[in-house]
Amino acid sequence: MAEFQQNLWAPWRMEYVAGLDERDDGCFLCRSAVPSPNDERDLVLWRGPRTLVIMNRFPYTSGHVLIAPLPHTAEFEQLEDEVLLEMMQQARDAKRAIQHGLKADGFNVGMNIARCAGAGLPGHLHLHVVPRWAGDVNFMAVLGDVKVIPQALTASRQAILDAAQALGLGPAATP
Ligand SMILES: [Zn+2]
Repeated sequence: MAEFQQNLWAPWRMEYVAGLDERDDGCFLCRSAVPSPNDERDLVLWRGPRTLVIMNRFPYTSGHVLIAPLPHTAEFEQLEDEVLLEMMQQARDAKRAIQHGLKADGFNVGMNIARCAGAGLPGHLHLHVVPRWAGDVNFMAVLGDVKVIPQALTASRQAILDAAQALGLGPAATP
C-alpha cells in the first residue's frame, strides 16, 4: 500500500474497483436525474436546474459527493457555460456543507475523463468532491478494502443535508 499512501488522490482506484459501470445496470446518474421518492435510498442530496448532487455509493472517503450535469454526456467540451457554472457552484456549496456537517479539514475536487483516466462511469461526466481529514491516510487505505456500510452513507448524507439547510445552501437555496 506504500504507493497508495503516497498518492492520496486516487479516486479512479475506488471507482474502478467498485465497478460503477453503465454496462452493469444502466447509468445511476441518469436514474437519479429526476426527483423520485427513492431519493434518500439513492443517496441524492439535491438537484439544480441543470445538475445533480449525489453521494458516491462507493466513496473514497466518508462524505464523497458527485456533481453531474443532468443529461447523459461524456463530452466536457460540449457542456454549456450555464452547466459548467452550475457544476462549480454546486461543488462550492457541497464543499461548504460537507465541511460544516462532517468537519472536514480539506478537500480534493476533480474529474476523471475517460476510462484510461480512471473514470468508472465514463459515459456520464461527474465532478468528485472528496473531503479529507488531517491524518486520514490510514483510514482511506482501510476503506479501500472493506465494504461500505449503507447506514454510514445515509448518516453522511443526512449530516450534509442538515448542514446545507443550516447554511441556506442546496435544497434550502431552491425556492
Ligand atoms: Zn447518465
